[in-house]
Amino acid sequence: MFTLLRDLRRLRRQLDLPHRTGSLAIRHCDVGSCNGCEHELTLASGPHYDLSRFGLGMVASPRHADVLLVTGAITSRMSTALRRAYEAMPEPRRVAALGDCALGIGLLGSPDDILGPVELVLPVDLQIPGCPPTPDAIATALFGLLASRPAGQGVTVGRPLGSADEQPTGERRID
Ligand code: SF4
Repeated sequence: MFTLLRDLRRLRRQLDLPHRTGSLAIRHCDVGSCNGCEHELTLASGPHYDLSRFGLGMVASPRHADVLLVTGAITSRMSTALRRAYEAMPEPRRVAALGDCALGIGLLGSPDDILGPVELVLPVDLQIPGCPPTPDAIATALFGLLASRPAGQGVTVGRPLGSADEQPTGERRID
């Protein structure tokens, strides 16, 4: 038994896996995405990255969530639902904007029914740029959020805003 635990510790060091520092329950909200970001989020949530092993899990209700993970440019029809989801979350609550649309890069143009970036509606703690961001970038960003325990400090992981490349998924619906 002890040998097995020692071997597992050695394997963790060799693979440079992040140490578990707590847990975060994540509620995903799609407020106007093309579904590209959702595809990558689904991959990041799958067995390859196995986020739940490191304390990151998707939940079905904002009432159970520590983090609201928002994809897409906010449409007028979804802005109220997004605010309501945020208000339903317990404190301390954090918001992560996933993908260039959520960051307001304007990939979908400026039609009347698109309000703009998530930060117009909610305070954003984590920005994950990319169109869409890769599963690796998503997992790295969420691990970073887990490691940065204090809420209220913005974190950007990945390429700088404005550049264009790279690639990216989850559930939808706001309760
Ligand atoms: S950032 Fe790209 S992939 Fe994500 S919702 Fe916008 S257009 Fe789609």
